[in-house]
Amino acid sequence: MIRFEHVTKRYADGTTAVDDLSFEVAEGELVTLVGPSGCGKTTTMKMVNRLIEPTSGRILLDGADIASADPVELRRRIGYVIQQVGLFPHRTVLDNTATVPHLLGRPRKQARDRAAELLELVGLDPSVYGDRYPDQLSGGQRQRVGVARALAADPPVLLMDEPFGAVDPVVREHLQTEFRTLQERLRKTVLFVTHDIEEAVRLGDRIAVYGQGGIEQFDPPATVLGAP
Ligand code: ADP
Ligand code: ADP
Repeated sequence: MIRFEHVTKRYADGTTAVDDLSFEVAEGELVTLVGPSGCGKTTTMKMVNRLIEPTSGRILLDGADIASADPVELRRRIGYVIQQVGLFPHRTVLDNTATVPHLLGRPRKQARDRAAELLELVGLDPSVYGDRYPDQLSGGQRQRVGVARALAADPPVLLMDEPFGAVDPVVREHLQTEFRTLQERLRKTVLFVTHDIEEAVRLGDRIAVYGQGGIEQFDPPATVLGAP
């Protein structure tokens, strides 16, 4: 589904963020990218939706080189959730979630019905939270809206960059458990960046353990936990 072939990213200032990286993620697989700050996780992820272009190597999505994909079309197929999701402050939770379906051509009523379903899916009762504004939500609730919105275009691929990194530990554990359950149902192909090894092991079907500039180990949780 996602395949990196000898991908290197060197920034303009000469920093090599990712060095000759090759790996593959299967359809429906959730891979966590874990490692210390600055080791290239975010760079890896942002190359998948072409927010960053590789210096060399190529990235295939469903067998096709993304370098020749239309970025707008590409991003429609790739949901994206970051640490602090940016919601429209002057739109309600329901409208924030309905924007993408509406942009994709659904009539307003249908887009709102779809948005309500998505909110339900991420554990936010639309009859309670739908009419609230983002500043009337907790951090964890805002992240849920971010996940709902990322799912709105029904993308086969999800990129998640420390999506639960800014919420307190208790809520965070809730979100992890719920997201894992959601993933059992949806079977998206997911790249999930975290610097928290516990989170990586709890969520990942496989875990890509980063060292400087690349992946040092790429294994299922049991192997990672059992490693010396
Ligand atoms: P991580 O997500 O693991 O924290 P990043 O991918 O953000 O790592 O960064 C990898 C390396 O690339 C770091 O050394 C970082 O400082 C550097 N880097 C990231 N973005 C840029 C940039 N725009 N220009 C120059 N260097 C960058
Ligand atoms: P809006 O800015 O109103 O959310 P866009 O045209 O930017 O609308 O969004 C179209 C699609 O692209 C949506 O599925 C959205 O989630 C996705 N998208 C927007 N920005 C990005 C991004 N930086 N990376 C990946 N997908 C994105």
